[in-house]
Amino acid sequence: MSYNLCEKVRELEPYQPISGTYKVRLDANESFFDLPPEVREEIKAIIDKTDFNRYPDPTAKKLTEAFAAYYGLDPENITVTNGSDEMLYLLASAMLERGSRVVVTDPDFSMYGFYSFLSENEIFTYKKNDKLNIDAEELAEFAREKNADMIIFSNPCNPTGQGITAEDARKLVRNAGDCLVVLDEAYMDFWDEPLLNEAGEYENLIVLKTASKAVGAAGIRLGFAVANPTITKALRAVKSPYNVNELSQEIGTCIYSHSEMLRSRRDEIRENTAELYEQICKLISNYQLPMDALKPCANFVFVRTDKAERIFEYLLENSVAVRYFGKAEALRITTGSKQENGVFLQLFEKFIIENILKTNR
Ligand SMILES: *Cc1c(COP(=O)(O)O)cnc(C)c1O
Repeated sequence: MSYNLCEKVRELEPYQPISGTYKVRLDANESFFDLPPEVREEIKAIIDKTDFNRYPDPTAKKLTEAFAAYYGLDPENITVTNGSDEMLYLLASAMLERGSRVVVTDPDFSMYGFYSFLSENEIFTYKKNDKLNIDAEELAEFAREKNADMIIFSNPCNPTGQGITAEDARKLVRNAGDCLVVLDEAYMDFWDEPLLNEAGEYENLIVLKTASKAVGAAGIRLGFAVANPTITKALRAVKSPYNVNELSQEIGTCIYSHSEMLRSRRDEIRENTAELYEQICKLISNYQLPMDALKPCANFVFVRTDKAERIFEYLLENSVAVRYFGKAEALRITTGSKQENGVFLQLFEKFIIENILKTNR
């Protein structure tokens, strides 16, 4: 007798973000700001006070309150997890029965489909239109047709940077009937159409937030689910008790209490993204390139071009990392600092001149 891995995991490969070191990292939608010195000082004091021999607070009370205060929420509606990723897994596994029917959209964050696959749900994919938008009515209709138990999508969307308005999202939640809607608002700090602040008022809505993007704390792994008290009780019950470690709770509490710092950084990220988008559009129009940059509602720009792979490799060779999407023939460029964006734009233009213009003549 010998042990065999079960079929569904046999061929899986561990998640591999870009490997190697690059001078400019515009590939993972992180904040380009690291924590400022005064916050680092507070974190040093936190480490000094930590009882490393004790389990952390399973309810993450202080952190929940700091997060609630920053976004103007009721702490009773919040569940904290080890990054949103943990919650995505719980939603697909604990909150659904095997064989449940899950609607995802394409293109969208690939983890939704992945956890549904692991949890042996049945997956139905709503294809976005050519502009990569979601038609909220169509999506609700699609979910009804498929008799879906859960719809999950990101708004604004990773990787397209496109969003649906709060009014459309509301209609979708109302039209979804007894289907659970999971709205991943990881990037909503960069746009102004959230359902976050009304999440507790619906029977069938969960809004997800993360500390990994606008808040600039991807390294400490904090995710938040906001929903009515009935759903929240279930989420708190199914998570592992000590899912968020003591340091992440304390450091997260500290970071969310610096609301002015967070808001001004968020604004700067927005400005840089707008400028990056404009500069990319300018290059596309100046050189009359057959490329299409989508106006972003998030902190990155999505560019569709049949040269995506070559541009991606050229950038890597020059120590600039962006994200390449093969199936969509596209690049996703996270905004960096002005200086980092400048490095990217210069290389992008150089590629155009040396590889696109020359070969066309
Ligand atoms: C980055 C991202 C998250 C955040 O995941 P964490 O596990 O909290 O780092 C969630 N949803 C989407 C769509 C993302 O792009």
